[in-house]
Amino acid sequence: MNITPNLRSTADYQAMDAAHHWHPFTDTGELNAKGARVITTASGCWLTDSDGNRLLDAMAGLWCVNVGYGRDEIVEAVARQMRALPYYNTFFHTTHPAAAEFAAALAEVAPSHINRVFFTNSGSEANDTVFRLARVYWDCIGKPSKKVFIARQNAYHGSTVAAASLGGMDAMHKQSGLPIEGIHHIGQPYWFGEGREMDPAEFGLKRARELEAEIDRLGEDKVCAFIAEPIQGAGGVIIPPATYWPEIQRICTARDILLVADEVICGFGRTGNWWGSESFAITPDLMPIAKGMTSGYVPMGGVLISDRVAGPVIDKGGEFTHGYTYSGHPAACAAGLATLRIMREERLVERVRGDTAPYLAAKWEALGDHPLVGEARIRGLIGALELVRDKTTMERFPDEGAAGARCRDLALAQGLVIRATRDTLIISPPLVISREECDLLVERTGKALDQLADELTREGALG
Ligand SMILES: *Cc1c(COP(=O)(O)O)cnc(C)c1O
Repeated sequence: MNITPNLRSTADYQAMDAAHHWHPFTDTGELNAKGARVITTASGCWLTDSDGNRLLDAMAGLWCVNVGYGRDEIVEAVARQMRALPYYNTFFHTTHPAAAEFAAALAEVAPSHINRVFFTNSGSEANDTVFRLARVYWDCIGKPSKKVFIARQNAYHGSTVAAASLGGMDAMHKQSGLPIEGIHHIGQPYWFGEGREMDPAEFGLKRARELEAEIDRLGEDKVCAFIAEPIQGAGGVIIPPATYWPEIQRICTARDILLVADEVICGFGRTGNWWGSESFAITPDLMPIAKGMTSGYVPMGGVLISDRVAGPVIDKGGEFTHGYTYSGHPAACAAGLATLRIMREERLVERVRGDTAPYLAAKWEALGDHPLVGEARIRGLIGALELVRDKTTMERFPDEGAAGARCRDLALAQGLVIRATRDTLIISPPLVISREECDLLVERTGKALDQLADELTREGALG
């Protein structure tokens, strides 16, 4: 029996979409000229499109479907919650069982110095919340001049105004006159892209010390916080050298600025520990979260707040004049609770760390031998391949992004969804991926690389 819910043809959906649906981060003219891919159903790590093609989803949707698609436990929990209480707000001294339970469950899995969560509906809202809350913190401890944020080039923290400003994406800044005032950017610890002439350890220290130099330049009494992703995701899965994070932590502590680890991608097991911060042994004061929080089943985000920050704000801050109509939405909390239950019961974090991550890493790193690959890197279940025109000189392709996009499309033609950021291929599969699916992921990526190499050779583009 065909249970796919599409009642119309692919072309019908594409036409409706082209006429009425404006997509995020999309050149609408370009999309409408070819028509959107229509995904109709999914199960485990597999998507099915409206033409019946099955695709292995090596991006977990958009870095979020950690427990995989088709989890009835989550669907049932959300349905039960919606029958009991589909909505109530958490303003005006009110709560509901799902919000209280989920907040407590998050505090349990959070690092021990973190015991509170502020609920939002997305990672962007989480970072806008961070921007306001961190400033309130310094007001509350009598240092109101500490207002400036230091962030990183090529970081991604979301699309709302403060989040896009904290992010370091030039294309986003250019389009609308961002960043807003009070946000400064330093270099990223992108060794392959920007530091290859140095030893990685040395480069990691150099980039970390840009933070210290920036604090000196701005004045320590002006700086509120440093924000960064433990591993930069959208920027191209940039895994910092081992020396980077300890030095950042040292500087934040010595110079008394807050450390904000944006855990939107790295949180909830992605790096083989519950938190990216754990993988890099840092102690953040604030941790924005989202994506893996509900496995994407219902939109949700939040900020995990350390005792250090919560204490003074609760004691002296009075009302925190911030919040969303849907903060702590019952359906999202139910989805989050069910997600955490699955992660615990199936010991997903342990499974990633002890089994799938090392298994995939061995195969993924072997792709580094391919003539088109300058570097293969992976941590937990988040990885990247750097495409190069010439492996001996590590020369990049002249038309930046074209080779990456072609390789991504060749992978898709074989039924594998990966992503390309410039000429960096990236993966972030569901945490439930099996060894067999890891095999297929690597095999199909390898085939796409081979095909691209053949095509480029025929075109005389490989020198
Ligand atoms: C996706 C992402 C965000 C933004 O989350 P949205 O839910 O899309 O608003 C913030 N930070 C990081 C690190 C992200 O990857």
